[in-house]
Amino acid sequence: MLLADKVCLITGAASQRGIGRATARVFAKHGASTVILDLDETQARLAASELGDKHLGLACNVTDKRACLDAADRVLQKFGRVDVLINNAGITQPIKFMDIKPENYDAVLDVNLRGTLYMSQAVVPQMRKQRSGSIICMSSVSAQRGGGIFGGPHYSAAKGGVLGLGKAMARELGPDNIRVNSITPGLIQTDITGDKLTDDLRAEILKGIPLNRLGAADDVANACLFLASDLSAYTTGAVIDVNGGMLIH
Ligand code: NAD
Repeated sequence: MLLADKVCLITGAASQRGIGRATARVFAKHGASTVILDLDETQARLAASELGDKHLGLACNVTDKRACLDAADRVLQKFGRVDVLINNAGITQPIKFMDIKPENYDAVLDVNLRGTLYMSQAVVPQMRKQRSGSIICMSSVSAQRGGGIFGGPHYSAAKGGVLGLGKAMARELGPDNIRVNSITPGLIQTDITGDKLTDDLRAEILKGIPLNRLGAADDVANACLFLASDLSAYTTGAVIDVNGGMLIH
């Protein structure tokens, strides 16, 4: 049990096949009280109840600062502490550079980057009081190689921003014993790609992955477990690749 009695918040964690939901399951197995945050309250509650009695599901749109603060308050009322935050909520859009409209830019930057800022700002005061905490930010291989397979350039920009924000937070919050690390997943089989992953495209993508398979949500969840737990007590400002070797650098 690597997370016994830890209170762990995960944004964007209601999606059935998603990375956030898989992470919630792994955390619950390791003894955490898990808080599922997502856009829809009913879905968030359902996801939490599937894990057992001690977990909580709340509506929280991470682009809304007030909603992030309210969610953090509700967590403190119920559990009295916050140990881990996974900034996992994200959206992508497979569009080309010249086709990015202001509303595309705003939507993708707001959920991925602004959401990471707002939710982190909501929990850091409590983590500072506790003088401990672990924040994990979900970036993407798309940030490192300038485009993954599905995300447009604005998605790469947003996820690149997440890496910079995470590193700067690590530097500033380290003296309070709050660690901040990022994960850069490669292509993970979830619903984020919609129906765009055809068999031909999949075969083409596999040629570039040394481990010769797409990632599973649990592959990323297990990296989250390492970064959330004391196994990574001396790791901050790091970026962990979970990409099957798609990018080796
Ligand atoms: P997913 O679509 O299954 O899950 C994303 C979740 O975020 C959904 O439950 C959705 O409702 C929620 N969400 C969207 N907007 C939100 C908002 N404003 N506030 C709160 N929640 C919101 O996708 P996933 O593949 O599990 O992605 C999880 C994270 O991993 C994302 O940040 C994504 O960019 C990143 N990522 C995924 C892959 C991949 O291949 N699947 C690769 C690299 C990075």
